[in-house]
Amino acid sequence: MNLESNQSNKKIFVLGGDGFCGWPTSLHLSNVGHDVVIIDNLSRRNIDNELEAESLTPIQPMGTRLKAWEEKTGKQIGFYNIDIAEDYETFLKVMQEEKPDAVVHFAEQRSAPYSMKSPKHKRYTVNNNLNATHNVLCAIVDSGLDIHLVHLGTMGVYGYGTAGMKIPEGYLDVEVQTDTGERVQQQVLYPTNPGSVYHMTKSQDQLLFQYYNKNDNVRITDLHQGIVWGTNTEETKMDDRLINRFDYDGDYGTVLNRFLMQAAVGYPITVHGTGGQTRAFIHIQDTVRCVELAIANAPTREEQVMIFNQMTETHRVNDLAKLVSKLTGGEIAYVSNPRKEAPENDLHVKNDLFISKGLNPTTLDEGLLQEVTEVAGKYAGRADHSKIPATSTWTKEQQPGIPETK
Ligand code: NAD
Repeated sequence: MNLESNQSNKKIFVLGGDGFCGWPTSLHLSNVGHDVVIIDNLSRRNIDNELEAESLTPIQPMGTRLKAWEEKTGKQIGFYNIDIAEDYETFLKVMQEEKPDAVVHFAEQRSAPYSMKSPKHKRYTVNNNLNATHNVLCAIVDSGLDIHLVHLGTMGVYGYGTAGMKIPEGYLDVEVQTDTGERVQQQVLYPTNPGSVYHMTKSQDQLLFQYYNKNDNVRITDLHQGIVWGTNTEETKMDDRLINRFDYDGDYGTVLNRFLMQAAVGYPITVHGTGGQTRAFIHIQDTVRCVELAIANAPTREEQVMIFNQMTETHRVNDLAKLVSKLTGGEIAYVSNPRKEAPENDLHVKNDLFISKGLNPTTLDEGLLQEVTEVAGKYAGRADHSKIPATSTWTKEQQPGIPETK
């Protein structure tokens, strides 16, 4: 691995740059001096319309966001509205004209419950995510440019069953016995065990990366990210118009942010099942820093796909609920688990690579209370309580996660 940090300014495409992770990442990369171009088809905003649910925070249209950034910093960020899963030719043309040094790929349907809602949602998630990722790889080769691809994957591909060992950063050393009885060492991708159609697409992405890296020497970094919590970063706090999205609805609201919001609006903190599930977490401020570090530490064309575990802490869901309850006085409600998963699991994860590159993580202890008061509490009046319960179930037999008290 090339550990040398290359801080020179680059032209960077941020695919999915209007989203929860993509928007603050675009601002951060622009702020540290890179030339950023966002590509997004605004499908996430359309899904808000479909679900009749909105970000808890009042996010602004893309034009207003970009104008506010230029007013505040004097820096310009480009924007193209392109569906990268459907419109390959336009995407390729823009890539050939703009000639990015790196492409950061966030542009996928990222909610597990949304991917399980109906056959239509399953098929949309597979078509969108696999075509998006394949089109990016195909366009990089087609363009003839030496582009470094940084993709946002998820720790969720591992299904949280780790048999007590620490999940390595991508690869597992295995020893196999040949026909002649010889013992041979090999490195394989750590086996995935996806727990939803969404996670299945993220598992498939890994094979697409491995193939294009082997066949075309595409330089790829795959960031296996934990659940992101928090809302704002140093850049999104510069102006109200730059505020980041905060999803709280039953499909897109991720576990810790959902708890914070539930407590802030006086809704029960809904724990699915016993809350014995252990998950990996990272603050949004660390997400943007990790992407910056990944861009600065690109692999060479000879190296295999570089995989980082992008998480900083693991927590049991029930412990998080108790912590939020202690901070806020909110009541906890145990509801049936709409997912098909083990009721309890341990999770041990290696994250040495980012720490070795200088990541100084924001921990729950430092950031949680601030998040409760500055975001969840401040915008509590915008919440539609009817959108909070998790109504998507993994099978027809399962019950939605609705608290009895409401
Ligand atoms: P998000 O839904 O807020 O953002 C995704 C963005 O991609 C949206 O703006 C959407 O409009 C865009 N997009 C989707 N399909 C597109 C297409 N075909 N063409 C162009 N644009 C398209 O999601 P997020 O939370 O920012 O997640 C971003 C990435 O990070 C996802 O790939 C997700 O799997 C990964 N990730 C997120 C989390 C998390 O907790 N949010 C955790 C682990 C991994």
